[in-house]
Amino acid sequence: MLECPRCKSTHIRKNGHRGDKQNNRCVDCGRQFIEQPKSHRGYSDDVRNLCLKMYVNGMGFRGIARVTDIHHTTIINWVKQVGGQLPDAHVPQEIPGVGELDEIQTFVGSKKTSSGFGPQWITSNQDF
Ligand SMILES: [Zn+2]
Repeated sequence: MLECPRCKSTHIRKNGHRGDKQNNRCVDCGRQFIEQPKSHRGYSDDVRNLCLKMYVNGMGFRGIARVTDIHHTTIINWVKQVGGQLPDAHVPQEIPGVGELDEIQTFVGSKKTSSGFGPQWITSNQDF
């Protein structure tokens, strides 16, 4: 459903084309606007919430980015937006202590995984 960028009315009329893009006009306020093609910026709330859920459950930003194909800076921005509202969230500015990282690495190492996912996950945390 199209929405007027000025008054948020959904009372929109098609108003010809500009190049290959559909031009539209808001019937209520007369504002003309071009229908935007779906961009990578417009993620749904569901996608955003899923990423935040993965983050809360301890996945690194780059790990989430690999799973979802969403750029990790986008995910970082979402986490910053919700900030302290997240229950049990890691504090974004907090860098895990060395001892903490050693524990995780020992745990991953003992699993002897051949997928390589674990060690990459550790790397992503260190990057941050
Ligand atoms: Zn309008």
